[in-house]
Amino acid sequence: MIHVIKVKSQPGEVLRFPKICSHCSQAAGERMRIGKRRGQTIRSVYVPVCEACGRELNLKSGEEERLVRIGLVAAVLVGLIILFAGLLILPSLISIVRLFPIWLRLIFSVALAVPVVIAVWQLFKRRSLRAAKPIKLAVLNSARMTHYSWRATTFEFENDVFAERFNELNESNLMEI
Ligand SMILES: [Zn+2]
Repeated sequence: MIHVIKVKSQPGEVLRFPKICSHCSQAAGERMRIGKRRGQTIRSVYVPVCEACGRELNLKSGEEERLVRIGLVAAVLVGLIILFAGLLILPSLISIVRLFPIWLRLIFSVALAVPVVIAVWQLFKRRSLRAAKPIKLAVLNSARMTHYSWRATTFEFENDVFAERFNELNESNLMEI
């Protein structure tokens, strides 16, 4: 069962989590970062997990490894192509670029390449995560941040015990969904 919990929290305020694993409710020894992006800002918190679940988070399936490697090669290749295009091809297409000194062309090309390289890398990282082992996906899905604002954060917890303890710890700050 999924427990949707909205709790009052200002940005930067530390939220209280029970000291048990969000997946299997064993004693926690590790933590898992969960977060939510809204436009340019990201809010993230660390949720407790046990050592066994923490280990699973760090393991990659064969397919995951393969996609990460392909992603790395693709990101480097795309970066090099954009650099090459910015330095050599663009000046031949747009005459004013030929007047720019080489260092300016280089800065321009790097500025163009960096966001694309990051986007390609993140695309493959997301794809690779889908190929993760079921246990890893289960741990990752056990606690999610689904929404946040300047005064509240909404979580979804799958583990009943974890959700119950979280509610107890944050009782005075719970909000209506
Ligand atoms: Zn666990």
